[in-house]
Amino acid sequence: MKKDDCIFCRIANGGIPSRTLCENARFRVILDLGPATKGHALILPKEHFSDLFELPEDWCRDAFALAGEMASVLKEKLGCDGLNLVQNNGEAAGQTVSHFHIHLIPRYRADGQTIGWKPGSPSPEELDGVRAQICGENQAL
Ligand code: AMP
Ligand code: ZN
Repeated sequence: MKKDDCIFCRIANGGIPSRTLCENARFRVILDLGPATKGHALILPKEHFSDLFELPEDWCRDAFALAGEMASVLKEKLGCDGLNLVQNNGEAAGQTVSHFHIHLIPRYRADGQTIGWKPGSPSPEELDGVRAQICGENQAL
């Protein structure tokens, strides 16, 4: 389903012009208008899914397969030294547009960007507790 009032639905389906790098039946890949670095691109599904929690499994597989392909293209064409995949879900995680998207952010030595987090220092017991909360009594999920 598409949402008329969703800007990424409109861009993905060609209703609003964008600097498209490629598209297929399910996705359009565009340049981000506020790039973190040169070549910062977004993978947008042509159907509306708010976030990863709503994205069906087969779309998820296709989205990340495309991310892998595009990462190689960007590396080859732009000569970047690295690349971050960023994918925000929910306001608490920094998502500002409620239409699933994957950021492809080429990285260059000394590009001055910081994409990261402040590492915590949990005790072994705290880590065991988190693992138990996720896996219960199982060895693993
Ligand atoms: P997020 O914070 O993960 O929701 O990322 C939203 C991204 O969309 C930001 O990097 C914006 O710069 C980008 N963005 C917002 N509107 C547009 C637009 N019309 N065309 C291209 N990129 C956009
Ligand atoms: Zn949408």
